[in-house]
Amino acid sequence: MDYTSTRKSLKLSGSEVILNGISKDGGLFVPSSFPILKREDIERLSDMDYVARATFIYGNYLTDFERLDLLHFAQKSADKFDEKDPAPVVKVDDGLYVMELWHGPTSAFKDVALTTLPHFMSYAKKRMDEDHKILILVATSGDTGKAALEGFKNVDGVEVVVVYPSEGVSPIQRLQMTTTDGDNVHVIGVKGNFDDAQKAVKEIFGSPENNQELQDNGYVLSSANSINFGRLLPQIVYYVSAYCDLLAGNEIKYGDKINFVVPSGNFGDILAGYYAKKMGLPIKKLIVASNENNVLTDFFNTGIYDASRPLKKTTSPSMDILVSSNLERLLFEIGGRDESFVENLMKDLKETRKFQVDKKLLQEKCPEFSAYYLDENEVKDEIYEFYEDFDYVLDPHTAVASGAYFKYIGDTQDYTPTVIVSTANPYKFPSAVYEALTDEKEEDAVKASKKLREYTGMEMPDNLKNVFSKKVLHTTTCERDDLKTTILDIYRRK
Ligand SMILES: *Cc1c(COP(=O)(O)O)cnc(C)c1O
Repeated sequence: MDYTSTRKSLKLSGSEVILNGISKDGGLFVPSSFPILKREDIERLSDMDYVARATFIYGNYLTDFERLDLLHFAQKSADKFDEKDPAPVVKVDDGLYVMELWHGPTSAFKDVALTTLPHFMSYAKKRMDEDHKILILVATSGDTGKAALEGFKNVDGVEVVVVYPSEGVSPIQRLQMTTTDGDNVHVIGVKGNFDDAQKAVKEIFGSPENNQELQDNGYVLSSANSINFGRLLPQIVYYVSAYCDLLAGNEIKYGDKINFVVPSGNFGDILAGYYAKKMGLPIKKLIVASNENNVLTDFFNTGIYDASRPLKKTTSPSMDILVSSNLERLLFEIGGRDESFVENLMKDLKETRKFQVDKKLLQEKCPEFSAYYLDENEVKDEIYEFYEDFDYVLDPHTAVASGAYFKYIGDTQDYTPTVIVSTANPYKFPSAVYEALTDEKEEDAVKASKKLREYTGMEMPDNLKNVFSKKVLHTTTCERDDLKTTILDIYRRK
């Protein structure tokens, strides 16, 4: 399998793509074609466990990796999850399922990819005979940061710098990051919101001088953000796995189509679902769920992508994003894999914070997408109602998805079996969840967690129990414009 860029025709291997993260032309790496899952494949995978399913899919994409190593990586990742299953599917009603992607070390779905990517990277580095150390630079809206720190800490030959917006993460998310130990990790708060942090990081990646200076100091930059194809790949697996689980559990027959509803921000999660569909997985609809930062909802309904609006802070901070980087990969498919189509739209986005795709073309090229958003009151109501109806506690991100699902049902009466992709454990956002359930405010996260436990009886994951008693080890903050120097300083001193 070769890879190309969304902005320039290239021919790269899986190792190169994973190691580089982003293409030098500013584009994102995409597979040059999609491997096809045949009926026998899907039926065979249904009889296998998650690790075997993952190994099979990895093998289709990373053809320059040894199969046995891929098995090993899939196993190591799964070992970090409760019950060794990164993506259990829970039935909440007839034809309605929740895929819980939060049983990993940081209780959010990014663990699925970030427990795997470090293995892909070390392997790729060895293959490419790279004598530089890899410097992983990550901008986070909250959950990626901790998941990256946990995934990469103490991994040989790798240094990790996580940059978070000091005004844009929840108290628990911040503590999860700033208490991380390990001698190869750095955590920096940048003044501003996620788009500021992401922009600052992108500038560092885009600057030849910075890259040269780092290289002179023995480092090559790479990204663990969801723009790295190595992040997307483990996410494709759970879409396939969910289908296989429903098949194995006799909930569906082979060939029956299913829908997925995905709480979306940077568009990485749902794009992996789209890739699974491209591989032949019987998916009918991919429902893009957004919070009040509803840029994607508008895009799918009008063809106009307009990021020139204020970013709103919501109870689902990991989706407080205006520029969804991974959408570029979908645009590449919409434009018939024409690099100049993408190039022009990205130029418009850069210059005007807007771009437009012909609405007819959009509907013709990706009819599988529907998009809905929820405002903050609707999110609160959804948490309450879902608990009343199904005795199941949703975090605010997942509530955005289930609310979008019910809006979709209202519009379409489409009762196709549907999987709601659940991206975070409710205890990551205890104040918001507790208030939604009881209408009682409790700003203090420790107290809110306790009360939530008393109210619902739901067990709190260990990693979140411990976070409040750990020592804060990282206190660096800086202005956006000083980020470059702050980072270069760390690696000059070493
Ligand atoms: C990152 C994140 C999302 C959004 O996923 P994207 O791949 O950025 O669209 C949703 N929910 C949670 C809890 C997340 O951490």
